[in-house]
Amino acid sequence: MSATMQQDFGDEPIERRETDNYRSEYVKSFVDKWDDLIDWDSRARSEGDFFIQVLKDRGARRVLDVAAGTGFHSVQLIEAGFDVVSADGSPEMLAKAFENARRRGHIMRTTQADWRWLNRDIYGRYDAVVCLGNSFTHLFNENDRRKALAEFYSALNHDGVLILDQRNYDAILDHGYSSSHTYYYCGDNVSVAPEHVDEGLARFEYRFPDKSTYHLNMFPLRKAYVRRLMREVGFQKIETYGDFKETYREHEPDFFIHVADKH
Ligand code: SAM
Repeated sequence: MSATMQQDFGDEPIERRETDNYRSEYVKSFVDKWDDLIDWDSRARSEGDFFIQVLKDRGARRVLDVAAGTGFHSVQLIEAGFDVVSADGSPEMLAKAFENARRRGHIMRTTQADWRWLNRDIYGRYDAVVCLGNSFTHLFNENDRRKALAEFYSALNHDGVLILDQRNYDAILDHGYSSSHTYYYCGDNVSVAPEHVDEGLARFEYRFPDKSTYHLNMFPLRKAYVRRLMREVGFQKIETYGDFKETYREHEPDFFIHVADKH
């Protein structure tokens, strides 16, 4: 496992627009700080039981968390009684997730898997796939997005559900950035703001109390575009919530949550 401490975006950071970036963006020192950024307790309060209810309404039992990160949702779902497998393409993230779960008394089942080749590394079918925390934004070209969605689709049972969320990039692209900071990045004293935004890149800066800064280069997914891709891959019914609510004005939510049913 590599334990790189520094991010390296090279001389032209805004030209780094590749799907494989995520592997070098989540360096160990950033991963170690991630939980300050998301603050598990505040995040649990702000999300409530939204995901648990969506899963229970569908009678889901087996859940694959494909973007486990440091394990927040996997742990919530394990504690709610679901049978969870936690995958991520980053070994640093998975190690942190395993440790976070262990500290809470759980043995997390982890698999390192890149979404584009997910079914090579996971076994069996799931009632639900969750891809949360604005993770899908890491894919920089349409072919990778289609491939990943097709892999999620095929990891699901015939009546399975995909829950995938994203930042409200339409609002950022069309109206500029503002954030209530309430839902995902709940940590105090951590500032999150875009440094550069165009139709092909949203580069965000994360500034921590110890003055360290990190960046993520992400693709600004438009909501209608993601819904179209999901439909084209075969999902039959897609509901999109805004900050966990069914009704909202398009530019208001910070995040959208797509709930896509396979049948
Ligand atoms: N879900 C977690 C949360 O909400 O805190 C983590 C979110 S983090 C923004 C995105 C995660 O997606 C990272 O852990 C990263 O390693 C993972 N990821 C990004 N691209 C990936 C890919 N192509 N395959 C697998 N994992 C990927």
